[in-house]
Amino acid sequence: MGKILFTCDVECHDPARPENWLLGKAGKELWLDIVCGELSKRNIEGIFFVDFVGCEKWANTIAQVIQILKSYGQRIELHVHPSNFSAGYPRYLTELKYDQQEQIIASAIESYMRFTGVSPQIFRAGAYGLDNNTYNY
Ligand SMILES: [Zn+2]
Repeated sequence: MGKILFTCDVECHDPARPENWLLGKAGKELWLDIVCGELSKRNIEGIFFVDFVGCEKWANTIAQVIQILKSYGQRIELHVHPSNFSAGYPRYLTELKYDQQEQIIASAIESYMRFTGVSPQIFRAGAYGLDNNTYNY
């Protein structure tokens, strides 16, 4: 069997249900834990792109996500959807000017570092939403 590169986005698009979105909570089950367990059984290191934008709103859930991923030795990288930054912000970085993108990405990096203790090495824009402004950051 060939090698597998597993990646997954971890993000919340419903502030009323961060555990469902971020942990994959369904009843008593946490799909994040189940997926990590399956990867671990197969000795696969995944890359989980976690959206840290506005994550203070669900800090306890993000902390749980990071704890689970670290406990399985999974890689945590940076994902950004600007819609969680503040009310009225769009879903895609491409809908923002350079200085707005810079503010959001810098904020997300700061949160990433606070929760993980290290700097992100890889960035994935949400929903292919990147443009020249994003590349120039
Ligand atoms: Zn996404």
